[in-house]
Formats: sequence, structure tokens, C-alpha cells
Amino acid sequence: MLAGRALVRGRLQPVEIAIDDAGRIRSLGKIVGGGPRHDVGESVILPAATDLHVHFREPGGPPEAETIASGTIGAALGGVSLVGEMPNTRPPVTDVESWQEKSSLVAGRAAVDVLLYASPVVPRELAFLARRAGGFKVYLSPTTGIENVPAASELPALWDRLSELRLPVSVHAEDPTRFVSAGRPTSPADWDRARPVAAEEAAIGELTDAPKSLRLHVAHVTTAAGARSLRNAGISFEATPHHLLLSDKVGADARLKVNPPLRTEPQREALWEAFRRGEVPIVASDHAPHPRDAKELPFDRAPSGVPGVETLLPVLLSRVRAGELDLGVLQAAACDRPARWLGQPLGRLLPGHRANLIVVDFTNRFRIDGRTLHSPCGWTPFEGWEAIRPQEHYRDGVRVVEGGEYVGRPDGRVVRPEYASGEPAATLTDAD
Ligand SMILES: [Zn+2]
Repeated sequence: MLAGRALVRGRLQPVEIAIDDAGRIRSLGKIVGGGPRHDVGESVILPAATDLHVHFREPGGPPEAETIASGTIGAALGGVSLVGEMPNTRPPVTDVESWQEKSSLVAGRAAVDVLLYASPVVPRELAFLARRAGGFKVYLSPTTGIENVPAASELPALWDRLSELRLPVSVHAEDPTRFVSAGRPTSPADWDRARPVAAEEAAIGELTDAPKSLRLHVAHVTTAAGARSLRNAGISFEATPHHLLLSDKVGADARLKVNPPLRTEPQREALWEAFRRGEVPIVASDHAPHPRDAKELPFDRAPSGVPGVETLLPVLLSRVRAGELDLGVLQAAACDRPARWLGQPLGRLLPGHRANLIVVDFTNRFRIDGRTLHSPCGWTPFEGWEAIRPQEHYRDGVRVVEGGEYVGRPDGRVVRPEYASGEPAATLTDAD
């Protein structure tokens, strides 16, 4: 039984959380009793986070960028108990073989649970993938590993097919026909002009009349206007910590080259204000590390992407401590809604939910140092930022982080939405 403080009905108050033998929350209240009592005092107990957008680069990526093993330990240390791993690995997850290869890399190697997205670019593979994958990811502009993207005219048929398959569908929304090529980009500000807000807004505009039966979500929205259109259309979306906290005014640093680009400071601030007001439903890292030397190439040749799964909660918890962000807003965006969108019994302090919990001591601050984070890439866009990392992390009631150190075992599973038809991916044979 875990005792400490937690947000109950919007207020931090003392609680006890009893956990059953199956690792689920049995009950929660002022006094629940039962079992040995672990009291964390003034520290705050939160549901662990779900980061529904990561790239752990396996198979086919350079191990000095990331692996499923290293990425999931980073997640555990950052208070994330489930990651949604994107399909644009090498080969991309588009068919039977690529699905099996990637799925086999999780068993015995993952420190947290992993939901694997598939890419729906091969029509005859869709039914197979829908019985295994945790979700689909659709790219509207070409990206590493995914060169062919659907034209706007093909989208209605794709949405109809995907809504029949019922899985969550995340979309990278940039319209490549709106990209601007005007000379070699040498800085994030140039990159922002090359892949402008107009490209993102055009792509979002294409999505707002997708069928309501589609479980649609838009990845890494960068502007308050985009957020507003999606809210009005009732479509789920995420913002990333880098788009919320960093602008394109950062000098000629290719480490901060990301897709979509960092935006101007006023645009960033407007997005942050929308997030603070609770108008951005989900925060996700889009963790996409590259080796340091790849990011030291000239800006136009450097790959896009920044690491972030381990710093997602810590940088935002620090904003909570500073009084700039409400803890309830963060808990909803990082823990509750992403798990709900993925159909997982996680992310809320609720009897019956998995006891995936973290303990946060708001007095225990540190400065982020890329070399001490767990990703082998060894750098972070939040170098030197103040952060607060969870001191403890429980997965199904079992402690996997203690005193800020990883003490768990690599027994993370491949999961898929509980509402989806068929058995969980982990128990399926691949005979059919
Ligand atoms: Zn991504």
C-alpha cells in the first residue's frame, strides 16, 4: 500500500492507495489499510505517463541513437509506463514480416510496455496488421522510411477503411505541396520558413471532415490556431515539449531541426498558453534521437528529430513547481488522455486501473545533462534546464525506479487497445 499525496477532485490531499495481487489499484482513499505501508510523505503520487509518440529506431537504426532496450529504460526513468512506437523504422512496419520482426524485438528487452503502430500503405496487409498493431500512423508528407504518402484525394477512402479497422490513427499533418524551397536552410528559422505553418494548417484542414467513427489524432501540432480547429472538430491531438517550450530563435543549431519545425516565439507562446489553459488534450515527446555526429552535419543535411521521452514529464513537472502549469492539466495531458486514446486501463488513480504509479518530490530539482540521460545519443534540446524526475516508478505495483535509479526488469509487453477485437498481440500466434 502506497501512502502520500495525490490529486483527488482537483486538490492535493493525503491518500492511501491499496494495490491487489494482480498489480491493479484495489482502492483509494484517506485510509484504506491492508498490507505493508510505504509512506512517501509530502511527495506526490501520480499515475505514470503514456508517451504515445516515440521513435526507438529499431530495427534498422544506429544503436548509438537509441534501441528499444535503452529507450524504454529512459521512459521508465522519466515516469512513462507505456510508449507508442512509430512504424517508420527500417524496414517500416507495413506487412506481416516487418510486424513480426519488430514485435520480436520487444520481448525480454523492454523496460516498459510498448504499443506498436503500423503504417497502412499496403492495402492487402491492413486486415492482418489490424489484428496485431496497437494503432496506425499515417504520414501526409514523406519521412524517413516512408516515401509514399496518400494524396488528398485518396484520404476519404483511407479513412473509411481505417475506421472499419477501429484502431487509433495518428497523423503527421504537413502538406508537402505547401513546402517552400528558397535556398539552403541553415537554421531552425529557415526551416520554419521552408515547412511553414501554412503547410500544417492546410493538412489539418483536410482532416477536419474525416468521419467521426475514425479514432483520429494529430501528432505534434505547433500552433494555437491548429489546436483550435482540431478542438472545434472534436479531433484528438498532441503538442510536444519542444514546440511548447522552444522557439526557432535559437541560432544555427541543427540539433533543433525537427518536423514540423520549431515556430516563432509568439507562436510558441500562444501554443503554451493554450496548453496551460487545458486546451491541448495530450502532450507527447515525439522522441526521435539521432547520433550527435549526424546532428553536427550542416543544417540542410542533418536529420530531423530530438530526443525527449526521458525529459517529457521532468521539464513539465518543473513548470508545475514554478507555478506556471497546473498539475491537474499536466496529469490529464500526460497520463490520462493518451492512455484513454490508446484504450489502456492506465493514467488515472482509479480502482481497477493498473497500478502504474510514480512518486514526485517537488523539492528534488536537478539540471538536465544530456550525457547522464539514458539515451545513447548523449544530448538533449533541454540541456541545462531545471527538471524534476520521479523518485519512484511502479509498474503493476512493482517498483522499477527507486531513488531516481532504474531497478526494474525488461519484462515490458506489446499491448494493443483493450477495446479492439481479438486477443492481445502478445498472446496471438502468427499462423493466420
Ligand atoms: Zn515522430
